[in-house]
Amino acid sequence: MILATSNLHKVREMRELLPGLELEPLPADYESPVEDGESFEANALIKARAAHAALGGAVLADDSGIESVDLDGAPGIYSARYAGEGAGDEDNLDKLLREVDAADGGRRAAYVCVVALVDADGTEHVFEATCEGRLLRERRGSGGFGYDPIFVPDDTDDERTMSELTPAEKNAISHRGRAARLAAAHLGLPG
Ligand code: IMP
Repeated sequence: MILATSNLHKVREMRELLPGLELEPLPADYESPVEDGESFEANALIKARAAHAALGGAVLADDSGIESVDLDGAPGIYSARYAGEGAGDEDNLDKLLREVDAADGGRRAAYVCVVALVDADGTEHVFEATCEGRLLRERRGSGGFGYDPIFVPDDTDDERTMSELTPAEKNAISHRGRAARLAAAHLGLPG
């Protein structure tokens, strides 16, 4: 099965989450589609459909991001380019910290992930999951990626950020872990 992403962190996490699947990365010369959908589901389907059309076979794709309650859901589907096209994780995280500090609210947030599956025959399925938590004022930890250093999930019994969890601990509670387990159950794989 093809995993339609060029984000190496997602490839690593999806392989950990779905060990029963041989997830192939996209070929080096693959031209990614424009992600111009207005929801996580629309963008996950754009990625999965495009790879299925170009390469054939079964394809898995995910679209994910973080929604801040104080910012009415921003950055949401724009999480990967919050600080502008080509912005990196550090710039995006700095912008989120600035905006949430300025909003001066309750700092609640949630990660969202939609996994889209297009079967070899073109049948489509989507699996959506969230992980709720709150945003710190400064970074802590070195694991994970993206906004993980400032995100404290509700589902742990201490104050560690996503970046301070082991990969297995993150996968057990993360938006991507939950969505991947829904996909695994659908595929009849051990979750
Ligand atoms: P996508 O590749 O268009 O789905 O963008 C996903 C973006 O959302 C990433 O670049 C990160 O900024 C953010 N994101 C999604 N999942 C995670 C996660 O597990 N940890 C931290 N940031 C995440």
